[in-house]
Amino acid sequence: MRGLVIARAGAKTEIWLPEEQRVVLGIPRGKLIKQGERIYAGDWVQVRNVSPHEVAIDAIEERKNLLPQPPVANVDKLLIVVSWREPDFSNLVLDGLLAQAEFFELPVTIVFNKMDLVRKREVAKLEKWVRLYESIGYPVLKTSVETGEGLDQLWETMKGNLVVLAGPSGVGKSSILNALIPGAQLRTDEVSEKTGRGRHVTTEVRLLPNPHGGWVADTPGFQKVDLPQWVALETLPVLYREFNQFPCQFNNCSHTNEPGCGVRAAVERGQIAPERYQTYLYWWDATRQVEEEQF
Ligand code: GDP
Ligand code: ZN
Repeated sequence: MRGLVIARAGAKTEIWLPEEQRVVLGIPRGKLIKQGERIYAGDWVQVRNVSPHEVAIDAIEERKNLLPQPPVANVDKLLIVVSWREPDFSNLVLDGLLAQAEFFELPVTIVFNKMDLVRKREVAKLEKWVRLYESIGYPVLKTSVETGEGLDQLWETMKGNLVVLAGPSGVGKSSILNALIPGAQLRTDEVSEKTGRGRHVTTEVRLLPNPHGGWVADTPGFQKVDLPQWVALETLPVLYREFNQFPCQFNNCSHTNEPGCGVRAAVERGQIAPERYQTYLYWWDATRQVEEEQF
C-alpha cells in the first residue's frame, strides 16, 4: 500500500493512506533505520498494516525534490509571496528567493499579495515587474486577502498540489493560509537553538489537507535569502534561468568580467533585464565574500 507522510516527529510519522482515506501512525522498518534513510513530510512510502492504527514503513519512494527548511519532500509548488508595500517590494530579495528555489528544483509561482495597497499611479510599475517575471517563465498571481481579489485563481493553482508558502515576513502568508483553511495557523518559530549543546532543533512541519484537494505545509519555506549558505559560487549562474540560453566564451563564465560573455552582451542588447543582471551581481558578490571568509 502507498502512503503519504504528513508529519514527522523523530522516528514517529503520521501517514495518510489515500486508499483508506485515513491517517495512521507509521513505524519505519529496522532495515530503513539501519540504512540511515530519513523520512520527510511529503515522502510517499510503501507500508503494511501491523495493527489497526499502525503501519510499518518498508520503503521510501524516490523524491523529486527536497525543501530544506522546513524539511518537505516532493513540493509541487513553492508559492513565493511578496507585497508591493508593507513590506515594500524588493526585487533583490525576490531574485534571491527564486535562485534558492531553482537550486532545490522547486517549481515556483510568484504571488503579489496586498494588491489593495497598490496605488493607481503605481499600477504600471507593478505590471512591469509582473511582465518581467512572466517573461522568464515564472507564473505570477495578484491577490488581496483584504478584498478577496485573485484568491479563486490562487486556490485553483494550489488545488491537488503539495504547496509550501514562502516569502518575507509580513507579506500575508499566514493570512492566505487562514483564508484557505479557516482556523489554520502558520507556524513561524523556524529554528530554535538548544543552548549548551550547539545543536539545532528544527520545529516539525505538518501538511494540512487543502479543502479543495492537495496539501499545504503549516510552516513557511524560505523567508530570507541564504544563498551563500547553500550555493557554491560557480553554481549561481545557472540559477538565473534566463541566463542559460546565452552561451559564453568560457563555459564556467561568472558573467562578471570575462571576455566573450554572452550574458553581458544579452543585457546590452536588451534580451536580459538589467534589473535581473544587477541582482545577479549583488548575489554573486555576497556569495564570493562568504566563500573568501571561509577559505
Ligand atoms: P506573514 O508574516 O507573511 O505570515 O504575514 P501575515 O499573514 O501575518 O500578514 C501581515 C499583516 O498583513 C497582517 O496584519 C495582515 O492582516 C496583513 N495582510 C495580509 N494580507 C493582506 C492584504 O492582502 N492586504 C492588506 N491590506 N493587508 C494584508
Ligand atoms: Zn558569461
